[in-house]
Amino acid sequence: MRRLCVYCGSRSGDSDCFQQAAEAMAEAMLRHDVGLIYGGAQIGLMGAVADAVLAGGGEVIGVIPESLKQDEVAHQGLTCLEVVPSMHHRKARMIELADAMVALPGGLGTLEEMFEALSWAQLRLHSKACGLLNVEGYFDSLVSFLDNAVEQGFISSEHRDLAIVDRDPDRLLTTLLRLS
Ligand code: AMP
Repeated sequence: MRRLCVYCGSRSGDSDCFQQAAEAMAEAMLRHDVGLIYGGAQIGLMGAVADAVLAGGGEVIGVIPESLKQDEVAHQGLTCLEVVPSMHHRKARMIELADAMVALPGGLGTLEEMFEALSWAQLRLHSKACGLLNVEGYFDSLVSFLDNAVEQGFISSEHRDLAIVDRDPDRLLTTLLRLS
């Protein structure tokens, strides 16, 4: 079975569209028989995507550091919850378990996780595809930032293209699976 690592907010955001997008991503994964790797929390969009995959009979593996087990309210209904010693172990383990990575809307943690995956791809530490689900233009300003970094000579266009941006969950998943 192929598995997708989903990075997303420990909050749900202020618009219903974010929760709907998390559920749409889960539905696309179920259609393609793709399991979920994520941070193991029950809260925010993280909980929403896990609940939707579980409700459809899919496989969900959570990876949570011991220190966050309480704060993030670890999900108790997962196929498997791996408790790891640190944040660093969590991020490495999530990439190790997955065939591809995708970021849904989220905050600093989501951005840090996705940029680590992208920078590790740039360094060829892995060759797994990385995507951004651009819900209602949430990542538009981030994409502009990356394009500006290319124009200013800090990111090569080859490395910029490591971030695959799409607003449609099914199309994004299909692209990520094809590249992985
Ligand atoms: P956020 O996007 O900030 O809501 O966080 C989403 C997930 O990223 C949560 O599971 C956080 O525990 C995790 N996270 C927060 N900060 C970091 C960090 N510095 N490195 C990696 N993950 C983080």
